[in-house]
Amino acid sequence: MLPFHSLSAAQASLGRNLTFFETLWFNYSNDKSDYFLFCHNILFLFLIFSFIPLPLIFLELLHATGIHKYKIQPKVRLPFNEIFRCYKDVMRMFFLVVGPLQLVSFPSIKMIGIRTGLPLPSGFEIVSQLVVYFMVEDYTNYWIHRFLHCKWGYEKIHCVHHEYTAPIGFAAPYAHWAEVLILGIPSFLGPAMVPGHMITFWLWIALRQIEAIDTHSGYDFPWSLTKFIPFYGGADHHDYHHYVGGQSHSNFASVFTYCDYIYGTDKGYRYQKKILQKLKEEVKNSEESYYNTAQNVKSD
Ligand SMILES: [Zn+2]
Ligand SMILES: [Zn+2]
Repeated sequence: MLPFHSLSAAQASLGRNLTFFETLWFNYSNDKSDYFLFCHNILFLFLIFSFIPLPLIFLELLHATGIHKYKIQPKVRLPFNEIFRCYKDVMRMFFLVVGPLQLVSFPSIKMIGIRTGLPLPSGFEIVSQLVVYFMVEDYTNYWIHRFLHCKWGYEKIHCVHHEYTAPIGFAAPYAHWAEVLILGIPSFLGPAMVPGHMITFWLWIALRQIEAIDTHSGYDFPWSLTKFIPFYGGADHHDYHHYVGGQSHSNFASVFTYCDYIYGTDKGYRYQKKILQKLKEEVKNSEESYYNTAQNVKSD
């Protein structure tokens, strides 16, 4: 809730006119409690978990030929029942763990100093904070994920997330309840270190989940805008981790590739990429030589 009773009081306090977005924010948030604003995250998460994976899943169920060549594991096609079961399990986890966790974590948000007032942060401030949040999350998640691949961690907790060896978007948050709780820590650390505005916090929670859905989508599109993000792992990087499964000692990072490179946990992935590239070149060369021979025979 903003400490101003009217738009003019807000302008007088800031000593200037409000920007367009500040006026929008004032009109929307002025009569709402900070707790209510924070709880918007529950709605955002529900919408993101439910709708962001849908387009690719529909196209796959419809056997759309245009996208098939971009599927990372083309031989695996999950039936509708299996996809729906995944969504149902994710929603159950959402209502039993993720939602209640959001409801009770408000005091910690207040404690670290997430603010809801005016002025709104600049675009530069929002982007810089989001970059920090992603980097802190990536590093912390890397080590927690690596720990979850020890015998105890995998058998007791992390094996649930690895049920899908060829992941789909809905499988991004599909995990044991304990993993959902533990991995809340890396998501919270960035905002705790560099607290920002509630809008930045909403964006962070939303973008982190959209990124997770992207890396579990099972498709690697060469035109994806994420290809322009330096060191971004994407679906191809994380898909390999699921493909190898429980024995995987490769590709632990959630967002970027540099942790796996620095700590030497991407060797299997890089070796596989090299072999695949070599095979592709051999197939291309043999096709070219076949074509040239056929042309020579024709001209003779
Ligand atoms: Zn794993
Ligand atoms: Zn995963």
